[in-house]
Amino acid sequence: MSCEVSTVKIIIQKFGGTSVATPEQREKAAQKVLEAKANGYLPVVVVSAMGRKGEPYATDTLLGLMKSVYEEADPREQDLVMSCGEIISTVVMTQTLRAMGCQAVGLTGGQAGIITDESFGNTRILEVHPGRVMDYLKEGKVVVVAGFQGISKNGEVTTLGRGGSDTTATALGVALHAESVEIYTDVEGVMTADPKMVPEAKPLMAVSYSEIVEMAHLGAKVVHPRAVEIAMEGGIPIRIRNTFSDAPGTLVCESSMVLDKTVIKSDRVARGIAHLTDITQVRLDRQHDVNESGFLSQVFRALADAKISVDLISVLPTIICFTISDSVVDKALRVLESLGLKREEIGITPGCAKVSVVGAGMRGVPGVMAEVVEALADAGVRIYQTSDSHASISCLVMKEDILKATRELHTAFGLGG
Ligand code: ADP
Ligand code: MG
Repeated sequence: MSCEVSTVKIIIQKFGGTSVATPEQREKAAQKVLEAKANGYLPVVVVSAMGRKGEPYATDTLLGLMKSVYEEADPREQDLVMSCGEIISTVVMTQTLRAMGCQAVGLTGGQAGIITDESFGNTRILEVHPGRVMDYLKEGKVVVVAGFQGISKNGEVTTLGRGGSDTTATALGVALHAESVEIYTDVEGVMTADPKMVPEAKPLMAVSYSEIVEMAHLGAKVVHPRAVEIAMEGGIPIRIRNTFSDAPGTLVCESSMVLDKTVIKSDRVARGIAHLTDITQVRLDRQHDVNESGFLSQVFRALADAKISVDLISVLPTIICFTISDSVVDKALRVLESLGLKREEIGITPGCAKVSVVGAGMRGVPGVMAEVVEALADAGVRIYQTSDSHASISCLVMKEDILKATRELHTAFGLGG
């Protein structure tokens, strides 16, 4: 069967690791594809690797296999082995669709025209050449594409970093002028907090691109922030949905696209609570003004040269304070010592976590910070540092307090009901 593509609508349907781990889950995922077809769409399916750590074809398992031979991994070969998880998933999903009577074809990221740079492990999509995908769609086939991967102009296989399949989905969506991108996962959509931490978290009917980018950067891993940025630039709506229910999920779009003002509730101060763990606070107390003798710039230049990313930065005349990931503490200490600092001059607080209240509606609203600190004080949670943007307030707390802090803020901002 062939059809005129210009008269039909293309939809991207991305299924995460927990949506394709078992035959039953894959059948549910395939049903979503068949439903889209029945509704007149040409579906392009993007899949992640099957399951989580410990399962045979999951990304972490493949990495473990490589490191079981030799601990030190070459980034190029590491990308090669990691790309296999999505390729296996693509083949299995293609077969599942065929078994359900649907014509389907599987493609690697490279075959689907995903062209990237060569920063292995965390590459960026430079171009998408969707010609081959389009040809198969014209033949009436469902195209299944391996997420999380691409190919460089030199033919190297690359991967996009954790959550990268979301980015494959939205990049294909923009290149194919899809009507929308559906991100299927194991929860009802974007929720007011991680439902694994806050049982009374509620799905949001709609969020703006900028709000979900903020939430994702602050730890809500339900969708990758880069994926949202690509969709935003391309003007394509995203819908985040549960593979295992018929709930409508969360629409991500420009707020102006949502006509029903009761849905977007932009007047609400907070839309959600996000959290990040495994953070270390670094504090440098100095006798002299850090602006003098170039000390301040030396510190941040040296950390940047060592590719250490810093967050929650506060600079006062005699104090420099920032946070880093727990995983780079030793490296950061070496960098700071190389600037002549003694170990005892470097204050280190490991085992921290960051909790954030997010909402575009908080801009210019007085009292939001008061609400945050009161809620945390009532819960007996000590604050080590804070920061804010136009759409969020973040507090650094100890990791053991993160559950309490998240739940307390969720209640204090009226998100539970
Ligand atoms: P997938 O494998 O489908 O990509 P992820 O594990 O990347 O799934 O993302 C889904 C998970 O994100 C959920 O299971 C949930 O625990 C977590 N999560 C964190 N914050 C939120 C939030 N605000 N809304 C929904 N899910 C969230
Ligand atoms: Mg994900």
